[in-house]
Amino acid sequence: MRIILFGPPGVGKGTQAQLLASKYNMLRLSSGDLLREEVSLNSQVGRKVEQYLRKGHLVPDDIIFEIVDNMLIENQDNDILFDGFPRNLAQARNLEKSLAQLDQTVDIAFEMYLDENEIIKRLMNRRYCPKCGRIYNYVTNPPTNDGVCDFDKQKLTKRDDDTEEVIKQRLKIYETETRPMISYYETLNVYREVHAQGTQEEVLTTISEIVDDYLTSKSRSN
Ligand code: AMP
Repeated sequence: MRIILFGPPGVGKGTQAQLLASKYNMLRLSSGDLLREEVSLNSQVGRKVEQYLRKGHLVPDDIIFEIVDNMLIENQDNDILFDGFPRNLAQARNLEKSLAQLDQTVDIAFEMYLDENEIIKRLMNRRYCPKCGRIYNYVTNPPTNDGVCDFDKQKLTKRDDDTEEVIKQRLKIYETETRPMISYYETLNVYREVHAQGTQEEVLTTISEIVDDYLTSKSRSN
């Protein structure tokens, strides 16, 4: 199964992707996490992409294709949940082409959506654990002890790009670059939209019902 999760920054994609990947035993492929890892390793790719991440701009497609295509080949036997990839039409088309070479296709493309004021509020209160990657929110999902991860007690960190100015830039890019993918996935008949208001569990239930229906109809047709 190949599932895409896209939506504006702060909509809860990363959290839902972690929950869904563990529920359906899928590999979560987050292009943002892969890029941040390259930056923290100070690798050749990391040095190339650092400025884009800091400003909230999209990293050039050829760098993304290289990273993702390698992951697709290495993990062709796994079910994959794409988190934050593809981010524009060229990436969506390239993904379809790369999957076709492996005799695969996208099964469902979920777009999560939320009111813009809520998004900004969520992002300004977002923190993550630099060790395990768990995402917290001081408003909607606070850690038990202020400022530290519930699981490994690491000090929580704010992402460099979670500042008001960069958030606005990322939202603008979402509108112009990423949302046009909707009609592409509508044409492929795999597009589903999900309102991301509500608790993590409520949103997970909404998405899971769609995945379960899909799996049931697929097993009937086999
Ligand atoms: P995210 O963690 O998904 O919010 O991504 C953080 C940043 O990484 C974005 O603002 C972009 O600069 C970069 N990025 C992540 N995924 C992609 C992608 N598929 N294409 C281009 N840039 C990306």
